[in-house]
Amino acid sequence: MNEPRERTPREVEDEVIRQKSHGYDVIKFHEIVENGRYVTTTGLSRPAYDAMNSAGHRIGIPLIGHAPDNLGLQAVLDDHQNLAHSGILVALYFVPKPVVARFLLPSLFSLGVLLLAMLEMVAVTSIFHFLKRPSPFRSQWKIAISLAALSLIFVLLWPTWGLLSSSVSFLVLLSIISLLILFLTLSAGVNAWRGWCEAYIPLWAKLSATVFAAASLTFALCLTIWLPVAWRSSQPNLTILARKFHDARTWVEPTLDIYKNIDSMNDGRSAELLADPVNRYVPPNIEAGWTGLATYRPPLQERVMGFLFRRTLSLSQQLTGHLQHAGVPLMLGTDTFGFPFCIAGKSAHDEMDIMQGSGLTPFQVLQSATVNPARFFGQENEFGTIAVGKRADLLLVEDNP
Ligand SMILES: [Zn+2]
Repeated sequence: MNEPRERTPREVEDEVIRQKSHGYDVIKFHEIVENGRYVTTTGLSRPAYDAMNSAGHRIGIPLIGHAPDNLGLQAVLDDHQNLAHSGILVALYFVPKPVVARFLLPSLFSLGVLLLAMLEMVAVTSIFHFLKRPSPFRSQWKIAISLAALSLIFVLLWPTWGLLSSSVSFLVLLSIISLLILFLTLSAGVNAWRGWCEAYIPLWAKLSATVFAAASLTFALCLTIWLPVAWRSSQPNLTILARKFHDARTWVEPTLDIYKNIDSMNDGRSAELLADPVNRYVPPNIEAGWTGLATYRPPLQERVMGFLFRRTLSLSQQLTGHLQHAGVPLMLGTDTFGFPFCIAGKSAHDEMDIMQGSGLTPFQVLQSATVNPARFFGQENEFGTIAVGKRADLLLVEDNP
């Protein structure tokens, strides 16, 4: 359920009631895909999102879903929305889509102007030095080089090498670089202002110094947004985040196996996954859709995104461990056939391995696949544990069948 099929609070509420009356067990909040293309534009409005969750709670149908990226994490917590796929938190919270949309271009543009102005200052100073005349930029060019170098280091360190890093020491280093940039930006501003008081400095040099200071200030202001975002994936913040999920009484279905498969595909190992003998259990119509993946080479944009977000699996695993520790009820799920190479049965075993690797005990992993889903659906008397009177869905045999 999502817009554009349902937009108004009334439409959303009617749809929740309709799905419950048709006998569905659960409602999935999900972007709408038609012919392989996302037709959801921005997502539900906050009143419509609120109406969806409150209707589900009121009439007693569980709701789990993707994240309302346009509304942010607080909406999920306020409305107690259960979350499928822990990696969905990347665009919702760790690198929030609205922040990227608003600040990416100003950040890159100011960095570009800053670098060009720095190159001009250095070139002009070299020419004046060659002519044995004092540079109109005095010592400003040194500040410009330091500022440009630190800004480039920030851009190379965080977005390309450190995105979704939970290492506190890395984030402290990033913070020190940001503080130095801020300090040098103030110096550049003071120097540009002083330049306007000097009669011997030509107008074009005054303007260049001012453009440099303005670009530096814009870039530094953008960092005051990006740096706190970078800290969101830190170990201490993962603990805080898990506590928030616990207090909001939300359920999480991590589906970590899909991120492992995405990593494998991004590493060009699709052919290896296709050659797995377990694929003989996959229905032919499903497997037919996978054959092209052996030779599939993702477009450049996808490869870049894969490289940037390559820590999604490890961050999701760390978060899963924190969620379990905080007492958030977890459910085992695999997105079988919703994503390539998620094979019914096998993917559940893979998921159990990855969950155990996230810090859960084997007992907690088993709970996530048995008693927890039974509680989620309010059917503890039907399945989830082995007891007299419950559904007979467990078979014990003496040998390996
Ligand atoms: Zn999903």
